[in-house]
Amino acid sequence: MKIHVNYDLCTSNAVCMGIAPEVFEVRDDGYMYILNDEPGPAFDERLREAVASCPNGALSISE
Ligand code: SF4
Repeated sequence: MKIHVNYDLCTSNAVCMGIAPEVFEVRDDGYMYILNDEPGPAFDERLREAVASCPNGALSISE
């Protein structure tokens, strides 16, 4: 499972970081960074939660 972000939609509100800080990081420069776009099966549930929770629909998953 691979996570993708559409930076045209992301507003760096850090909701995803709150769900999986090992994967998503909002830095002082105001941008959200994907630390690991394929973190492995142990993260599948939280990646799905992050996609569902992003208020801007900026996250998506590919298998
Ligand atoms: S939850 Fe969505 S809008 Fe917020 S930082 Fe993550 S990808 Fe960006």
